[in-house]
Order: sequence, then structure tokens, then C-alpha cells
Amino acid sequence: MQFITKCLKELNNRGFSSIAIPGLTTGFLQFPKDLAATNTCRAVGRYIDDNPNTTLREVHLVIHPEDKTTLKAFADAVRNWSLSLNTEIERKELCRFKIKKISVLIKVDKLEEEQVDMIVNSVDKTLNLDTGTLSKVIAAAAGQTVKDECHKNHPSGITEGSVVVTSAGNLKCKKICHSCVPPHKPDNTSKKNIQDIVVKCLEKAEQDQMVSVSFPALGTRYRHHPAKTTAQGMLSGIEEFSKSHTSTSVKQIHILIYGDRHTEISKAFVDESVGYQGASAEPERWTPEYCRQQYHKDLCPPEYWTTFTSDKSIKLWKTECDQDYHKLVDVDSVTEKAVEKLVLSTWQQQKLGHGRDAAGLSNLKYSGLKVLKVQRLENIDLYENYAHFRARLFHKAGDIGVFEQLDGVSQSSKNIATTEHLDEDSILKSELFPEINEHFLFHGTKADTYKKILSQGLDFRMAGEKGMFGQGMYLAESSTKADQYTDPKTDRTKDEKKMFLVRSCLGKVHLTQVAKPKLHRPPCFQSGCESDSCEHSEFERCDSVVGEGAWIFREFVTYHQYQNYPEYLITYIRT
Ligand SMILES: [Zn+2]
Repeated sequence: MQFITKCLKELNNRGFSSIAIPGLTTGFLQFPKDLAATNTCRAVGRYIDDNPNTTLREVHLVIHPEDKTTLKAFADAVRNWSLSLNTEIERKELCRFKIKKISVLIKVDKLEEEQVDMIVNSVDKTLNLDTGTLSKVIAAAAGQTVKDECHKNHPSGITEGSVVVTSAGNLKCKKICHSCVPPHKPDNTSKKNIQDIVVKCLEKAEQDQMVSVSFPALGTRYRHHPAKTTAQGMLSGIEEFSKSHTSTSVKQIHILIYGDRHTEISKAFVDESVGYQGASAEPERWTPEYCRQQYHKDLCPPEYWTTFTSDKSIKLWKTECDQDYHKLVDVDSVTEKAVEKLVLSTWQQQKLGHGRDAAGLSNLKYSGLKVLKVQRLENIDLYENYAHFRARLFHKAGDIGVFEQLDGVSQSSKNIATTEHLDEDSILKSELFPEINEHFLFHGTKADTYKKILSQGLDFRMAGEKGMFGQGMYLAESSTKADQYTDPKTDRTKDEKKMFLVRSCLGKVHLTQVAKPKLHRPPCFQSGCESDSCEHSEFERCDSVVGEGAWIFREFVTYHQYQNYPEYLITYIRT
């Protein structure tokens, strides 16, 4: 290699622009042909990297046409070298997979052009950005300010195995994390060294709330790490980090491969990623596997909550929260529209005023509801009870399969109206699990009771009279029905009213066409079983009762106190 470098220097001194190099060392020295070829290409490449103003424009590698193996070795080396840093490369994605919650993308591309929050650079101990090919490319793209910052803050360089963060100068990212990878050693420490560097880089990214980070294949260029060592070290570093930082800001990691060893490195990463792709693939929805996976998740508030946010588990929130467990939050306009749409789309004008519970309403003469305000109840204590109940249903569905939707239950006419009226991309769908028959349903409440519900939840044990299906919580799929219960039958008005849009886990549904006023809990799974105290001990119990018969509205009844969560409070008037 030194010999070629000397030749190229000489050429430059004379201002020449082309050179012919024979298949050096492959003759009487018996040097391995592929190594000779790679070294020749590297020597030329390195010279070009180090002397950007060279007069060299053309290199001819001359091999005897009879020497087929040498010819092939040089042809391969040249093809690989064409993916070198200073040449145009064929950008391509190699694979995508997840490690815990972090998405990983492996691709052939230019690191210095990445549009991510943080780019990881590879530097030597001096932290002089003008040494090392990758560092030089990054420094050239970032500009003088980054070099100055390195020199000013770390005049004596950094130690091997450590990382430092600087601004990004002219790059399209926000920060650069400069890492100093120790050289490869023949013992087993190299993989651990790379793993540790990756964790350190990601911790720096986490400190600055970075979401996306791009890495080079660390140590593969001048630190001479085998591709497999680097691939194993980097992926296990990401795994290590994601285990100890479960709610990290880092969501996306890119690993960029380039340069003369790209084929070998790509293969190592793709091979290594197979183990992660299998283990971390999300099961398909509507499968028992999906339900089992949900059952094992930490219980967290929904992602869209704003007071009790989902970055902490419910346990942690309750430990840290020393006063009020609940807050009534004004929702954003998207959520307000989604809730309003459910109120309006489930309104059934033709049913207004019909039936015993609607007494007094026909005299009011109104043709619909106008939503004035939507608020979200963020009550971490009530939600904890609900989340536990929901998790139990995930477990049940994981055991016996996902629950039938209402239109699949025999004798039932159609699916639940509220769920049917949700838009495909509705915010209300974001954490709703119809697999366990979780739905949003309405519950009308009188002016004096809604405040109690905010702190204590829906408690049917306090209901005055037993309903047609016994002692349970009654919910509605139509806003017309819920509206019947928001004021006394003897004192109907057009004043402001309140109803809740309730998250409800119906689970396995028992459908009945006759009234069963004595129920204290649903009947069991056995078809034809009508009783809450049957002898069918080998069957599990249903989780809810739906009354669908010759009534004006269907009734949805739940018998467990924690089966429902009153998530949205709707203030409205009759118009
Ligand atoms: Zn039974």
C-alpha cells in the first residue's frame, strides 16, 4: 500500500493525471489475490480521500488476460470500491425491524446527508475531524464551526470508548455525536466495546430529547472490526438501551453502510437482524397472540392523555401524584369533532319520545342535540381499575380466542352503532380494542350526579331502581336514548345537559330477547343458559348482557364496577 501511495505522490508532484498499476504482489510473492486487490483499491481510495486536490484523474489496473483468478479478484475489489465515500452510491434499504419500541432501518446511503435529529460520527482520540475518511466527509459537510467547537471544548482529544456531542453546523441534523471506537482486539472485548459506544450515543440522544439517530457501521473501516462483530455489537447495544429506557424519546435508528466492505457488512447486519425480526414482530390484530401480547404490556394511560401522560406507567403516576388523581381536561378540536360526530350520527329522531323512559320529551319539540363542550376525564385511579379489567379480558381472549362482534352473535341484527360510526382514522379508535368488545357507549346523567362520577366513576350499586336486565350499568349506542336520562321525567327542559361517552369492555356478550330483571351477573357461555346461578360449572361466565328484542332501543348492560370508564363528558342542549 505504501508503495502505491508513493507512486501517486510522485505522479502528483509531476502534475500527471493517469497511472497504470499492475496486479502487484500476486506473482512471485504469492500474496493472496483478493487481499492484494482490496489493498490496491484501498491505497488509491485513501490517497484520493487524503488529497482532494490531486491531479490524478484516471487509474488503470493492468492484469494479464490469462490470469483469470487475479482478474476476478481485482474486478470484485473495484466493484465494491465503487461504493466508496467519494463516489455516487446506489442508495437502498436493506431491512427494517423493531427492537422493543425502537424502529431500526439498515440501508446503503450517505451519512452526511441524513435528515435525522442526531448523526453519530466516528473519530480517533485526537478528535481532529480531518483524520479518518468518514470524519473528514462529515467535517467538510458540517463546516469549520464544528471543527472549532471540537478543538475549543476538547483541546486534548477524547479517550477511547467515549463520546462527545457538538452542534451540527451545516448538516441537516440537530447534533453530531462523535464516538471514539477502540481498535479491534482478537479477544472477545470488541463486541462489548461497540455495544457500550452505542448505548452511550443513545443516552446522549435521550438527554437532548432526540427522536431519530443515524449511525455508521462502527469500527468497520480503519478500526478493522469484523463485520459480524460490529453488527452484533450495534444491535445488542440498541437492545440494551431500549431495555433500560422503556419510555425513551429515541424512536428511530438508521444504520448506514457504505464503502469498500459494504457487501460483507450488509450481509452481516441482515443476518444479525433476523433474530430481532422474528422476536419483535407485532402479532396481527384479531388474533389470540395479539391479545396475549396486550395482556403482558405495562398498564399506562392512553397516549393522547395530557395530564397523566403515557410515558409513565399508571403505578408510577399514582406513586408520584400526591393529591388529585383526576382532572377534567378540555379536548383538542379533532377529538371534540369525533365525539360530536358520534352524538349526531347516532341520533334517531323517529324514536324521540317513545317509551316509558322518554316520558315528557315529546312535548319539548326538538329535533336533535347541539354539543356545547367536550371534556376528557383523566382519572388515573379509575382508569387503573378499568385497565386491570381490560387486561383480564385480553387474557381471556388469548385463551379462548377473540370475542364475537355483536353482528356475529346469534339473534343479533347488527354491530354496535357507535363503533360503526367511527371513522377509520378517528382518534377515538386509537386505543380501542374491538377484539375484546371494547366500545364507546353513551350514558346520560342528571345534573347533580355527574360530578360524583368524575371522582368515583360509574357505580350502579347506587342506582335507585333495578332495570329490565337486573342490577348493572346500563349503556346506550344511541344519543337519543342517553338523552332520556339527563333530566327527571316530570321536569323536562331545554337547559344544558350532561352525558358521558363511556369506554366499555363488553367482552363475551350474552344476547337476550326477553327481560331478565333478576340478573346479578351475566349467564355462562353454555348456549341456552339464561341464569346467573346455573350449575354449568365447566363454563366461564359471559361479561355483559345485550337486550335486543321488541324494544325501542337495544340495552347494553355490564355487571362489574370496573368494566366501564367514563372518559368523555359531553355538555349539550336540545335544539
Ligand atoms: Zn350456565
